[in-house]
Order: sequence, then structure tokens, then C-alpha cells
Amino acid sequence: MRPNVAIIGAGFGGLCMAIQLEKAGIRSYTVFEKGVDVGGTWRDNTYPGAGCDIPSHLYSFSFERYSSWTRRYPGQPEILRYLEGCADKYGLRSRIRLNTMVVAAAFDESLGRWRVRTTAGDELFDVVVSAVGQLNRPHLPNIPGMSSFNGAAFHSARWNHSVDLAGRRVAVIGNGSSAAQLIPKVAEVAGHLDVFQRTPNWVIPKPDAVFGPRARMAFRHVPFLQRAYREWVYRYAENTLYPALAGGWSTDLLRKRALGHLREQVPDPLLRAKLTPGYPVGCRRVVIDSGFYPALTRPNVDVVTDGITRIVPGGVETTAGLREADVIVYATGFDTSDFLAPMQVTGRGGRQLAEEWKGGAEAYLGIAVPHFPNLFLLYGPNTNLGHNSIVFMIECQVRYIMGCLPYLASRGPMEVRPEAMATWRRSLDRAMEGMVWQAGCTSWYKNAAGRLTNNWPGTTTTYRRITRAPRPEAFHFARRTAATGPVTGNR
Ligand code: NAP
Repeated sequence: MRPNVAIIGAGFGGLCMAIQLEKAGIRSYTVFEKGVDVGGTWRDNTYPGAGCDIPSHLYSFSFERYSSWTRRYPGQPEILRYLEGCADKYGLRSRIRLNTMVVAAAFDESLGRWRVRTTAGDELFDVVVSAVGQLNRPHLPNIPGMSSFNGAAFHSARWNHSVDLAGRRVAVIGNGSSAAQLIPKVAEVAGHLDVFQRTPNWVIPKPDAVFGPRARMAFRHVPFLQRAYREWVYRYAENTLYPALAGGWSTDLLRKRALGHLREQVPDPLLRAKLTPGYPVGCRRVVIDSGFYPALTRPNVDVVTDGITRIVPGGVETTAGLREADVIVYATGFDTSDFLAPMQVTGRGGRQLAEEWKGGAEAYLGIAVPHFPNLFLLYGPNTNLGHNSIVFMIECQVRYIMGCLPYLASRGPMEVRPEAMATWRRSLDRAMEGMVWQAGCTSWYKNAAGRLTNNWPGTTTTYRRITRAPRPEAFHFARRTAATGPVTGNR
């Protein structure tokens, strides 16, 4: 039996899943993509300066290594081209339905299949794989008066390229990774730029470099060079960056690196004080950028730390008075903790995923949820990283799901057992205890109640090991086998 698979999203996750199905000769899948093309976050985020702060050779599929990266840290257009190239090379396009949003999915127990409702109608599938990512829904703040603003206003992930910023007064609200990338570009052209900072971030330099024709030639032709380079980048992240997040040997090193970077790039002690975080390094996502601090020291840029009280037609009003603006950029991040929202996902017994997750999203291995048979998640709860490439995690998850498919064929719909979920939850909670994310800071890694719903607390090597293959004893199967006896009705 070849399962009929619905994949939701055509970013890194959805494309990876589709490619592995193709490789296995399973063409009975459909990728639903709400956007106009493939690429996910790399299609959405087109703000000036958009790029990745994970080296390109690691921020790409291990099975589709690309020797032609033009930089150590890839820009958005190059990553998007890479993903489009993958869709073309593996012949995925005919199976991708663009401009088609999944609004709901419900497990039909009598059929043992998922009824997937899209903006184009209903369809039945054996398996649903969600690949919607964690950073796909822009978060707009709830500041009074936002709709009264006279000028152009947009979110960093919905950049309005028709607005000319040259010589204008621009307000950027937020100072996370997106803001840090776009601020240097905006500062170059704006007449004046106000950066509204609520909480300073730790910033370390991004040692970017151009890969010229010779380097690219070497990556292409010198045996094992590309593989060795990728491995080196990976090992560095695992062995040096991860310990800094886990209270290990490199914590102090990372702190000193960030403080040294601040000292080198910001000579003004008052501005330096504003930019110095008051919480441990790594508690929130560390910004990796070499252009951010220099941009903040420009004469046409102010870092505003006075609280925003409201938006008025002429600009941003703070506790210290009005900051006039022609354009407001909301670099205010994403709604990260509701995961599959706004899709309505209904499992066995009419259970609603949103209701199951009201205390905080959780999934066994970040992949499977009790009472939701044959639903698999990519980049699900507790699989985000603060130190390494998410593409690595996605590949682990896809391999795991591929490992589940033969069970589905022989034993019917599979559903993770609540006991397995409970054991998983306990081990996660234990692992979280040592992580710096707990150290009294706010971040998008946590839900409103302060539960760490987004991050994976271990190394990626550990994650790869525990997701190498599904353990059938962690699952209920709908059909009996000689070896296991009946399981239906034993839930
Ligand atoms: P973010 O890190 O969540 O930053 C949002 C910013 O908006 C914060 O500075 C936040 O202030 C501010 N903010 C939110 N609501 C506000 C309000 N009501 N008033 C004032 N300020 C407000 O979002 P992001 O920069 O888009 O980055 C999100 C994630 O995307 C990153 O952490 C990273 O994982 C990923 N990303 C990666 C790259 C890359 O190079 N790999 C590039 C861009 C983004 P507070 O800090 O005080 O909450």
C-alpha cells in the first residue's frame, strides 16, 4: 500500500519530505502551499539584508550539497534559489498546489484517514505531515493608535518594496535578528532612523566571507572538501556553541566575545550601556551580525529606549515625547507558540489540537501527538535550535516519518501512546533544567505561561540518535498483528 500523504507547506520541511517520498518511489503525495511559490520563510522574508546566520554549507540538505554558494553566510535570494532548484531537480512542482491554504484537517475514524480541508475543497489522505515552520505568522504588536498612522507601515516579513526609504524618517520597532539585518541597509538610505529597543540582545560577529570562483571550484572538485567543511561547521556548533547554552565550558567565552564585539564597535559608553543586556548570553536568540552595531553608531540613527505609548498619525509617541516618522517597520517577530494555528486540527474522538495544547504545544520527539493518528510534524514543538542548523533537525524528522510508513502499510494508522508522550515530557523537562533559556528572560522560545515550547534542549547529535528509527512499542496501531495482538480499544 502506498500511503496518500498531504504535506502542508513548501519550505525547507515540506520540500525535504516530498524529496524523500520521491526517492522512495512514493508519488502519492500533495504539497499544499498557501503562498505563491515554494520557499517558506525564505520566500516571505525579502527585507533588505535578509540572510541566514548559519553557514550556507550547513544550512542546506545533506543529500543535496551545493558547491556554488557565493558566501559563507547565504543571503535570502540565494537560499530561495537553492530551494527552487531543489523543487525543480526532484520534479516536485507538479505535486505542489500553490495558493492553496489548508484550513482544517480532521481524522475520520471510520475510514482511518484524514479529511483535509483547503481553500480549494476537501480531500482524503492517509497521512498528514505538517511542515508549516515556527516563524511563519508575523507578529504585529498591539500598540494603541497603529491604524491612525499617516505613512506606510509594514512588518519585516511582509516588506513593502514599493516604499522608497531614501531620505525619509524611518522607525524600526524591534531589535531581534531580523531588525539587526535590515537596520544597516535602512540606515544607509534613510534621512533619519529611530530604532525602538525594548530589550537589548547579545550580539556576536558574523565572520562572513565571499566564496570566489576558486573556492567554489575547490568545493566542486576537491574530493571530500565540501563534506569536510560542512562537518567542521557542524562540529563547531555542537561542541562550542551548544555548551554555551547548556551552562558548559564556553558560556563565559561567548559572553566575552559578545562584550568584546560591543566594545570594539560602539565607542560611546552611553550607547554601549543601552545595548548591554542584563540577562545571561543565550537566554534569548543571540544575534549574529557584524553590521548592526556600526549602523547604530551612525549620526542619522538613534536607539530609542523610552517606552512606546502609542502610534499617532505623525509617528511614534514615547514616554519622552513624539518621534516623528514617515515609515514604520515592525520588526516585531512572529507568533511562535501556537504552532499549527490557525488550522483547525481534529483528532480521534473529536479532540481539538488547539485544546490539547492550551497549556503549551508538545509532541513526542517533536513529531507525533497522542490521539492524532498518522499526523506527523516537522519542526514541531521543542525542535528549534539556538546553536545549529534547523535543516539538520528537519532531515532527522523526515527520516523518522519515512521509517513510520512501512508500519502504516502493515499495521494501519499509528498513534503515539500517552505513556510514551509522558516519558518524553519528563525527559524534556529534566534536560531543560540546565539550559540558559530558563534564566529569567522573555523570548519567543516560550509561550505566554513561560513554558519552553519551542527549543530542543539537547545536542543535535542526540536528536539524530533518538529519531534514527521509530520504536513501534511507543505507538498504538489500528490493526492487530500476530506479534502484538489486538491494540485497538486498548487506548
Ligand atoms: P524577534 O527576535 O522575536 O524580535 C522581535 C523584536 O520586536 C524584539 O526586539 C521585541 O522586543 C520587539 N517587540 C515585539 N513586540 C514589541 C512591542 N509591542 N513593543 C516594542 N517592541 C516589541 O523577531 P525576529 O527578529 O524576526 O527574529 C525571530 C527569529 O527568526 C530569530 O530569533 C531567528 O531565530 C529567526 N531569524 C533568523 C535569521 C537568521 O539569520 N538565521 C534572521 C532573521 C530571523 P523584546 O525583545 O523586548 O520582546
